[in-house]
Amino acid sequence: MVLFINKNTLASSLEAVQLEAGSGSVASYIPALQQADPAAFGCVVHYGREKVKAGDTDIYFTLQSISKVISLALALMDKGSEEVFSKVGMEPSGNPFHSIQTLEKEKPAKPLNPMINAGALVVADMLQEKEPDAAARRFVRLIREITSNPEIDICFETAASERNHSNLNRALCYFLKSHGVIENDVEQVLNTYINLCSVRVNSCDLARIGSVLGRDGQDPETGEQLIPAWTAEMVTTFMVTCGMYDASGSFAVKAGIPCKSGVSGALLGSLPDGTGIGVYSPPLDSHGNSAAGTRLLEKLSSDYQLSIFSGR
Ligand code: GLN
Repeated sequence: MVLFINKNTLASSLEAVQLEAGSGSVASYIPALQQADPAAFGCVVHYGREKVKAGDTDIYFTLQSISKVISLALALMDKGSEEVFSKVGMEPSGNPFHSIQTLEKEKPAKPLNPMINAGALVVADMLQEKEPDAAARRFVRLIREITSNPEIDICFETAASERNHSNLNRALCYFLKSHGVIENDVEQVLNTYINLCSVRVNSCDLARIGSVLGRDGQDPETGEQLIPAWTAEMVTTFMVTCGMYDASGSFAVKAGIPCKSGVSGALLGSLPDGTGIGVYSPPLDSHGNSAAGTRLLEKLSSDYQLSIFSGR
């Protein structure tokens, strides 16, 4: 079905959405993100060895919460699912991504899932090694392998900007530390989390990540197993249930594409036939998801029957 998408059809879908969107605003709570061009809009669809591109696909942006998909994959590979899910749950939160309220209700404190900030901070704690930078270096290595782009790195300017404005995440971290859920030094864990969020990619890189995840963790060109199949299956399931925060339910109904968003305005989509989709449009809706990007994926899904729940 995805085969019907070509350069021209993708460009006209982008144009249609651009005309009807016009809402949302660029994230400002991390000052570096405010420098993004609100008019930038690009999409890449990657299937087989083919890449179809439309719009502004050469712009670089940071992964932000999309990093949560790959950090979860690393923690699962290291610790196995039993240990990981003893400290972080599997349920959608129905709350905004930085919410602290449900943490206090759970006894013992356990973030509801690894796609919200509290859960990802616990995952970042699990990735700690003796060297404070080791976890972030390892994360960057895996992203370079998955995207086949050796130039990918952390944007230290964005990381510094977030570090100076991360009191909410710092509070989540101290709360989790005081309940014994986070074991390592809070500033080190927070630093790792921020560095992973600040890894810079473009829409092509995102589409390739989606393709690898959709191919059970295999490289679309070489067939090399980059992530174990069971891990790819687990993280893409979380993309369906929790990837769009408190809009995950409506997005599953309207688009049915396993997807993860980031506050930079990026969206990572992954389909079980190995199709990967990368979208970038910085203005966000009230849930913190790219407004035009979300509309674009809903449109592509309805135009080309991309929903994983569609029997057609
Ligand atoms: N770095 C961001 C934060 O922690 C990521 C959030 C997001 O992309 N939703 O606030």
